[in-house]
Amino acid sequence: MGLLLKRGMLVDPVDRRVVQADVLIEGGRITAVAPGLDAAGHEVRDVCDLLVAPGLVDVHVHLREPGLAYKETIESGTRAAAAGGFTQVCCMPNTRPVTDEPEVVRWIREEADRFGHATVHPIAAVTSGSRGEELTDFTALREAGAVAFSDDGRGVQSAMVMREALLAAKRLGVPVAVHAEDESLSGTGAVHAGDVARELGLPGIVAEAETVMIARDLVLAAATGAHVHICHVSPAAAVDAIRAAKALGVRVTAEVAPHHLLLNEELLRTHGGRAKVNPPLRSEADRQACVQGLLDGTLDVIATDHAPHTEEEKARPLADASFGFSGLEVSLPTMFTMFVHSGLWPVEELIARMSLLPARHFGLSGGSLEVGARADLTVIDPFTRRTVEPDGFFSKGRSTPFAGRQLYGWPVFTVHAGRVVHDALWQ
Ligand SMILES: [Zn+2]
Repeated sequence: MGLLLKRGMLVDPVDRRVVQADVLIEGGRITAVAPGLDAAGHEVRDVCDLLVAPGLVDVHVHLREPGLAYKETIESGTRAAAAGGFTQVCCMPNTRPVTDEPEVVRWIREEADRFGHATVHPIAAVTSGSRGEELTDFTALREAGAVAFSDDGRGVQSAMVMREALLAAKRLGVPVAVHAEDESLSGTGAVHAGDVARELGLPGIVAEAETVMIARDLVLAAATGAHVHICHVSPAAAVDAIRAAKALGVRVTAEVAPHHLLLNEELLRTHGGRAKVNPPLRSEADRQACVQGLLDGTLDVIATDHAPHTEEEKARPLADASFGFSGLEVSLPTMFTMFVHSGLWPVEELIARMSLLPARHFGLSGGSLEVGARADLTVIDPFTRRTVEPDGFFSKGRSTPFAGRQLYGWPVFTVHAGRVVHDALWQ
């Protein structure tokens, strides 16, 4: 018996169109896509007028395991992914221990497979312990299943080490994902060094701490021909640098996070430590540059930088609060409301930026509803407005600056490898 989704509006980011059709799922794969498929012998779900999209792909999440299960587990994080419409996530290596050995990569994948809520692709550390000194064994980590390399959480301070990393990643055909932060410039800052920090007397992080390292790594990518992927871009000058590098033919892709598209430093006035994230929320001009960069394709994809922490860690005074927001369960509706509900983008463009393109840039399959593809699907309700209520999150991290917002475009039904992993429609 297969699972038949009837009369959905299929979002096709490959051919950039939306068509009404049925989708038949059998044996974990999509076996037919056409209007009026025969329902006999199948479990039928009527998704009339709802959007049926390829499963979303997030190339930047923190699942916190091994070692930091009090913040999140692979089980809770992947369950949150399913609830957010994501069927594949790439997890960052700043775990305890750091994901710098093949055994850790294998353990993460096995742990994710044990629950089956979503496929997890580990990103392995660039350097041993992410200390920025000695390169890890890229070949062994790649063989164990790592899809990219990053010391996310910290910037690789040495240009020489980054150059070696780019060369090693190029040999394997995978990207290095750059957390851009020059520590000689970022210092002990907790927020963006802008008007609000000055007014409130807070130690700030200058935008150049990020832009300097992005510029350096664009130069190194140009010199080596390697693929550099810039994580969570936030300053206007960084968007300009990436745009210029792309024009020169540098192999660069870049991601932007929903909070950098929607929020600016003003949030510090009302949210204190709950507005703390790294890179920080910057000026309104920076925010607008990120939006423009996403619209014109300089910034390729949307990634959550899902960074769960405990309530206690986020409730501390600003200087001591942990950096980061819980993002998986609000990313799609924030972005749908901002870009699709507003009329800026057709829905297929948003789905391309959250599914097809992240998969493509990280060498993953996905982003397609073709017959024969693995059945990873997200059903989206474009009509119903709902309020963000973090108390209902599956993630252990409940801190989001979007709490209380009224949004459209909620994921309501998620299928991963043919299995229903999230069902807010019939359950
Ligand atoms: Zn980062």
